[in-house]
Amino acid sequence: MGRRPDMERIEEVADLRRVLAPVRADGRRIGLVPTMGALHRGHLSHVPLLLAHADLVVMSVFVNPLQFGPGEDFERYPRSLEDDAKLAEEAGVDLLFCPQVTTLYPPGSETLVELPDLSSQLEGAVRPTHFRGVATVVAKLLNIVRPDLASFGQKDLQQLLVVRRLVSDLHFDVQILAVPTAREPDGLALSSRNAYLGADDRREAAALNRACRAGFDAVAAGERAASRVEAVMAEVLNGFPRVRPDYAVVRRLDDLKPMTVVSGRAAVLVAARVGSTRLLDNLVMDVTPDGVREIRG
Ligand code: AMP
Repeated sequence: MGRRPDMERIEEVADLRRVLAPVRADGRRIGLVPTMGALHRGHLSHVPLLLAHADLVVMSVFVNPLQFGPGEDFERYPRSLEDDAKLAEEAGVDLLFCPQVTTLYPPGSETLVELPDLSSQLEGAVRPTHFRGVATVVAKLLNIVRPDLASFGQKDLQQLLVVRRLVSDLHFDVQILAVPTAREPDGLALSSRNAYLGADDRREAAALNRACRAGFDAVAAGERAASRVEAVMAEVLNGFPRVRPDYAVVRRLDDLKPMTVVSGRAAVLVAARVGSTRLLDNLVMDVTPDGVREIRG
């Protein structure tokens, strides 16, 4: 196999469009992985999955101010563009799109993309403007890159569902690829925010995965009452004094609405502060009369 050409780094929309036009004209397929940088193995795992369906991968690195609420960590969010560029290139990214804030949000821009129902629960209840920011920037990136497929991590399950709904509602001609959650050996889901965890917090951070796993195991063992599954998850989290949960629930997968009896495609989801760091995790499952199967990606 020939060596891939060097990765190109692009900041301007017009430059990206100019580079992608001949790619599209040649009938080559374009994959997009949107990120906020501070890349880890989880982000990089998207690249080979995209390359299985695409000829060229664009990765965006953009810390999107619109998805941070007042008092959240926009200012201190880890930024490491030089390291990110190296990691992205090694992983096989062809184009790194790293626009300035004023490029994506020039003075006077005001259009917002809202999903009032899906965005109002779980993460949206805690972070009321978060998904409006996500949906708006994803719509922009899809219009700028016009990828054939774009990947989103299952770790941010509600975000993945928001993106699928947005793509369907606005008729974007793109396939959405769900990527399984990459984890540390103790189960902690990789996240750029793990960098905030001190040693004591880090030891307790695996509680989120433990709680999800306990919820899943309860369903696998035959428990079907959602309230009892949630009680099992809460009990696990209770054993970790530094962990303060926002929610630990079992929900329908399609719309994340509550259910009384666990059946069909469902997800256990946890959000919690560990010390001052807010983390998320989930597991997705298919519950049928024949048994319970975990769905990854
Ligand atoms: P972020 O930079 O946190 O906005 O994440 C960019 C993309 O990578 C999103 O689609 C995330 O869901 C995804 N992602 C984040 N963490 C992981 C992980 N541990 N495994 C796989 N994908 C992830």
